[in-house]
Amino acid sequence: MMDSVLHKEFVAQMSAELGDHEAALLVDALMCAPQPTSVRYNPHKVSPLPEGEVVPWCASEGRYLPTRPSFTLDPHFQAGRYYVQEAASMFVGHLLVEALGGEVPRGVRVLDMCAAPGGKTTLYSALVGDRGVVVANEVIRTRALTLADNVMRWGVGNTVVTSNDPSHFGSLEGWFDVVAVDAPCSGEGMFRKSEEARREWSPDNVRLCAARQRRIVADAWKALRPGGVLLYSTCTFNRTENEENMAWLTEEFECEHIGVECPEEWGIVRTRAGVAECFHFYPHRTSGEGLFAAVVRKAGEGGGRSRSPKARKSPFGQVDRQAAAVVGRYLAAGADLHLATIGESLYAYLAAHWDDVRTVCEQMSVLYSGVRVGEVFGKKFKPDHALALSTIVNPTATPTTEVSLDDALHYFRREELGCVGELAEGVNLLLFEGAPIGYTKRIGGRTNSLMPKELRIFQQQ
Ligand code: SAM
Repeated sequence: MMDSVLHKEFVAQMSAELGDHEAALLVDALMCAPQPTSVRYNPHKVSPLPEGEVVPWCASEGRYLPTRPSFTLDPHFQAGRYYVQEAASMFVGHLLVEALGGEVPRGVRVLDMCAAPGGKTTLYSALVGDRGVVVANEVIRTRALTLADNVMRWGVGNTVVTSNDPSHFGSLEGWFDVVAVDAPCSGEGMFRKSEEARREWSPDNVRLCAARQRRIVADAWKALRPGGVLLYSTCTFNRTENEENMAWLTEEFECEHIGVECPEEWGIVRTRAGVAECFHFYPHRTSGEGLFAAVVRKAGEGGGRSRSPKARKSPFGQVDRQAAAVVGRYLAAGADLHLATIGESLYAYLAAHWDDVRTVCEQMSVLYSGVRVGEVFGKKFKPDHALALSTIVNPTATPTTEVSLDDALHYFRREELGCVGELAEGVNLLLFEGAPIGYTKRIGGRTNSLMPKELRIFQQQ
């Protein structure tokens, strides 16, 4: 139930856009309907998926949950085995795959321009897998740090997290095959969830958001190659921030239409703005919050990527042979990886996409990339928490111990473990229900967690 009413102007706006009857149904859903809880599983870590009601437009990974558990206190959540994502938002994955012709091509470069906290980034990362690179950008630094934590937990290793103003992507003009703009908006679609969104809403704010969105889209457009795909989304209903912005885009720049299959029974309302295909999720029609999404292609030749820009100062150092040998056995056999150092830490990247990663890291302000593997001291190696949660970890490189829920939570709170007596002396990989959750080092009767302090959870039961 809501603890504040909706703005009169908002209700009037929706009546003008949808008609009185449809607007009344929407308002009723925003005021009274329960909020569904949904999660998206990490297909690179969880298979087969647990049973549950399927999110229709994300059937392979999205599930509704019957109740809302405490996610913080679930070791599987802490280990990046699923992401808590509002169901409608998962639709952008369907759009991405449809816009790419049903399959993600090898070598694809995806830019997620407004990425924190990482719901859509982790979805793109899962879909791209080992086929390409996802650059997840967030201009607000504190939010970018949260994004980096979520990308690290997700652990697919194909993502570079940057914190730049959208205009900085001018140095990668025409470089990306896909640019997604999940724009900051007036948040009407979040009214059911967020008191703040209801409070902050005003017609003036809608106009301000729309102007900012145009600036972001114009920068995104530059970064996109001719023939590339622009995905635009907001979590708001009004036409000003949605169709009118897409109509502006298609008038201002040369765009082509992209056809998207979308079964009617999903309950999504389709509209057009210029050549852009648009999709509305309304909470009285679909099980989830509000979402608007649109897709267009940048006109021009399909292969029209720009050259990579001139190299700037690289953050990377080389890994010597001895260090590579020490680290090698901690990494999954058969993965074709490139190792590099940043400061004291060693990072791993899929060799096929190393050049792309390096280009982005030379041009942008990068907070995280690939998988942080650990630090080498002579012949000794201190594995990083990120390695434990990644898909490239070799779990047999260290002794492993299955821990109870209590001990898993002790671990995430950085408390002493009850099972210390069962651990081998030195570094151990802890498993919860068979899945890695992190490293700990046993020294006699004590343990030292290798999980960074910043990730520590404080919630008790
Ligand atoms: N894509 C995210 C997800 O799925 O988890 C949600 C993104 S949220 C809707 C929009 C993001 O845009 C926010 O993280 C916000 O900090 C960022 N933002 C705010 N002002 C911006 C600007 N002027 N340029 C680019 N991004 C901005």
